[in-house]
Amino acid sequence: MTAYPYEVHDYDVVVVGAGGAGLRATLGMAEQGLRTACVTKVFPTRSHTVAAQGGIAASLGNMGPDSWQWHMYDTVKGSDWLGDTDAMEYLAREAPKAVYELEHYGVPFSRTEEGKIYQRPFGGHTTEYGEGPPVQRTCAAADRTGHAILHTLYGQSLKNNAEFFIEYFAIDLIMTDGKCTGVVAWKLDDGTIHVFNAKMTVLATGGYGRAYFSATSAHTCTGDGGGMVARAGLPLQDMEFVQFHPTGIYGSGCLITEGARGEGGYLTNSEGERFMERYAPHYKDLAPRDYVSRCMTMEIREGRGVGEHKDHIHLHLNHLPPETLALRLPGISESARIFAGVDLHKEPIPVLPTVHYNMGGIPTNYFGEVLNPTHENPDATVPGLMAVGEAGCASVHGANRLGSNSLIDLVVFGRAAAIRAGEIVNPKDRAAEVNKAEVDRALDRFDATRHANGSVPTADLRLEMQKTMQADAAVFRTDKTLGEGVQKMTAIAGRMGDVKVTDRSLIWNSDLMETLELQNLMPNALATIVGAHARTESRGAHAHEDYATRNDADWRKHTLAWVDGNQVRLDYRPVHTAPLTAEADGGISLKKIAPAERKF
Ligand SMILES: Cc1cc2nc3c(=O)[nH]c(=O)nc-3n(C[C@H](O)[C@H](O)[C@H](O)COP(=O)(O)OP(=O)(O)OC[C@H]3O[C@@H](n4cnc5c(N)ncnc54)[C@H](O)[C@@H]3O)c2cc1C
Repeated sequence: MTAYPYEVHDYDVVVVGAGGAGLRATLGMAEQGLRTACVTKVFPTRSHTVAAQGGIAASLGNMGPDSWQWHMYDTVKGSDWLGDTDAMEYLAREAPKAVYELEHYGVPFSRTEEGKIYQRPFGGHTTEYGEGPPVQRTCAAADRTGHAILHTLYGQSLKNNAEFFIEYFAIDLIMTDGKCTGVVAWKLDDGTIHVFNAKMTVLATGGYGRAYFSATSAHTCTGDGGGMVARAGLPLQDMEFVQFHPTGIYGSGCLITEGARGEGGYLTNSEGERFMERYAPHYKDLAPRDYVSRCMTMEIREGRGVGEHKDHIHLHLNHLPPETLALRLPGISESARIFAGVDLHKEPIPVLPTVHYNMGGIPTNYFGEVLNPTHENPDATVPGLMAVGEAGCASVHGANRLGSNSLIDLVVFGRAAAIRAGEIVNPKDRAAEVNKAEVDRALDRFDATRHANGSVPTADLRLEMQKTMQADAAVFRTDKTLGEGVQKMTAIAGRMGDVKVTDRSLIWNSDLMETLELQNLMPNALATIVGAHARTESRGAHAHEDYATRNDADWRKHTLAWVDGNQVRLDYRPVHTAPLTAEADGGISLKKIAPAERKF
């Protein structure tokens, strides 16, 4: 028994996370009259979504012909045929609706001459099933699209009486007989404990970029949802697929949006060559991210990197008219100056592939319901639990996400989760009894962490993890690096029990919070490297030097990873290959989306 008193809050729905996914889910739930709490460890508009620059994909066709079938095809191909086809179809079909809803909620999109939503080209987005020219599909609010979306959704959620619990840190899920009945949270500014007793819990906790040393994501992206799910004995899916963005600023990792290449920017090596023309004659600098990152890494490894150590690449925007830069890319002009010390009107920006996005996460169906797959039923759901956004894995990105497909994933599936919850949650049902034993279990762990008195400071162990992941689970992977990485990570995770927390207070205790975050990062990192070591093929972001080709016969399947302490058990579940609608009723031709070699 712990000595922590706690306050109980009864809700229909508790959403953990107030990024784009959490806010879109919160808004959708509240709009339907469900009593909704949104719990977030940072102020809503400081969630990582605020940093999204380039835009949000939807086949509006404002800047030339486009169709949801082409968007779906690009997403299927972008995923290297690992995405679930039903979910990818749902994404592409619902995208225009979801974007118009955002517009009507008040997102200040950039405009065309005629006053329509402005759209820019992004990597891997094409016309005519990859046969036609690139399409302008990415809707943008200058280079601050995430910022615009987040502020709008927060305002709308407040208007619909959603209740916010800001700077509350969710510690663990409350699982009752295989069903989720809420979360336990710690209020950071006064140290009190709160139990959210809910009929539906939605995890929208974002990615785990901070498992790596160099990442574009915020320091708060610590995979807390994945950690909670792993501790609840549920699996994580496809964690080996980690996206490296081609253009993180060399040194700081700060992102230069793909929109920069969308507006005409290009990459060069030490010979001044626009090398992407050689690797991808058709798509050039706008090939998908996994491919561009690999090409850049190859150039560097073959001695054609730029700079004193020949260890990075140049991104040129200096040929673009200053008006375009001011109108379309104002934010990155500032980032280049602050983080690289360059004036992008005059000189190229030094860039390097940097960890950017986690394709893997908590497995869900396309309604956002969390899966607990078995061999008998690979699509079995966990009652009372949903996951959306980067924390989830629906799976629409498969082995590689296309640029601007995440923001649309957030709003399409945030919205889908709300629609589904509206069907299955009855506001008239009485709240369940609080499961005291489970609450105590979470608080015992919290208390043990608070009083942890081992020999290694949290920051030191975190650094070891980050360096190991950066070195051994990077853009190029080999049996040797992955094998060593698994050993090192198993040892590092094994030392979690030897961590030392120096601050014992409960108020603004960042040492304790970072330790709880490290406890969450660890299972995410372990699942990533163990899953990568097991996958003996190359697919999307998983480029394995010892197995250079994709092997559909053996590996077109989702990895499932159950993490317990420093041990990982793997299993697999089939990819959904059937679309929701067939050709006859305006759907997509099965022939079009059949697995093929990815060429650019
Ligand atoms: C620099 C950058 C630029 C990007 N640009 C684009 C782009 O142009 N287009 C695009 O499509 N994608 C882009 N992406 C990807 C996309 O922005 C992210 O995948 C997406 O914003 C993630 O949103 P989310 O709602 O899932 O999570 P986040 O926005 O990361 O929000 C997570 C939320 O969970 C809360 N939380 C987490 N843990 C806890 C806990 N334990 N207790 C309580 N609350 C918790 C946090 O407080 C936060 O509110 C970009 C990503 C980065 C890093």
